[in-house]
Amino acid sequence: MDLSVVVPCFNEERGLQELRDELNAVLPALVGRFEVVLVDDGSTDRTLDQARRLSALDPRYRYLSLSRNFGKEAAMLAGLREASGDRVLIMDADLQHPAWLIGDMLRQLDLGYDQVVARRDRHGEPRVRSLLSKLYYVGVNKLADVQLEDGVGDFRVLSRRAVDALLAMPESNRFSKGLFAWVGFPTATVPYRNVTRKYDQSCFSFGKLVNYGIDGVVSFNSKPLRAAVYIGAVVTLLAAVYAVYVIVCALIGHPGVPGYATLIVGITGFGGMQLLLLGVVGEYVGRIYVESKNRPCYFIKESGGAVAMSVEDAAPRMVVPRLPSDAPLVADPAAGNGGQQCAD
Ligand code: UDP
Ligand code: MG
Repeated sequence: MDLSVVVPCFNEERGLQELRDELNAVLPALVGRFEVVLVDDGSTDRTLDQARRLSALDPRYRYLSLSRNFGKEAAMLAGLREASGDRVLIMDADLQHPAWLIGDMLRQLDLGYDQVVARRDRHGEPRVRSLLSKLYYVGVNKLADVQLEDGVGDFRVLSRRAVDALLAMPESNRFSKGLFAWVGFPTATVPYRNVTRKYDQSCFSFGKLVNYGIDGVVSFNSKPLRAAVYIGAVVTLLAAVYAVYVIVCALIGHPGVPGYATLIVGITGFGGMQLLLLGVVGEYVGRIYVESKNRPCYFIKESGGAVAMSVEDAAPRMVVPRLPSDAPLVADPAAGNGGQQCAD
């Protein structure tokens, strides 16, 4: 297989047919054999029906359907595990990732790169969002051990060894932008003009974006924890200096009137600082807790399409996709996804 295209889909019934038309217009001229893996991430609309229909119409299309909405990161992981191509392209289903760019991306990859990422400008985006994103990237790049680029997302094509490297990362709390950067390998960038969403709204609300941002900060470094220690130390020192000042004032005969305001400011200030620092520590402890449970990132409730139908029972299945640490990276297709059946 020359190319696998992994497409995470959450409530994308309206765009899938157009996506297929776009892909079928460009891919046959660019690659020999290709497959498109549609990953329905627990959609509540008719996305799954559309995926079933497309894969019934065209043997190059396959689909997986997750047992519920696990989020884009899990959907991408499921698709990457299922992809069998020598090169793997990841793109959104919402037509915001232009198919005409794929040719340029593949040509770059053939020059010897392992990752070719598409970088969009922020054309047509609300000003506030662009500004917040820019500030975020400046901040996160100062803190994080990996460098993230503004405008660079999941629209990228990867070599097989880059995909295998990504799949070798066992963590379940996956911040893909960071993982892509962390695995390294020669990487090229192809710029393109931002395309606004044609149907519906972004699945990422402001709250989800903030959570995603926090993931980005704490997934790849422990500097906030270190910052917490420094901030705690500085605040304690200031408190000690203030205490010495009060004692000295009292000793030299200027006890002053104990200020109610100072007291309140002190209590709330220190209280707030403690909560903040506890929160930082809590973020990391929470992550350790999640990782220690070692849960699979998703369950597959159904799959279909040419490959899945020919090698497996087409009946719906529940599969634990996580590989044991000593398992080969490429799953035995005859054994199902990841080669493990779900324990009760
Ligand atoms: N997506 C997904 N699961 C989710 C949310 C989104 O698979 O829980 C998919 C979605 O269908 C789309 C891609 O991820 O193909 C990007 O989502 P969206 O367009 O909402 O994000 P944005 O472009 O605003 O970053
Ligand atoms: Mg989008």
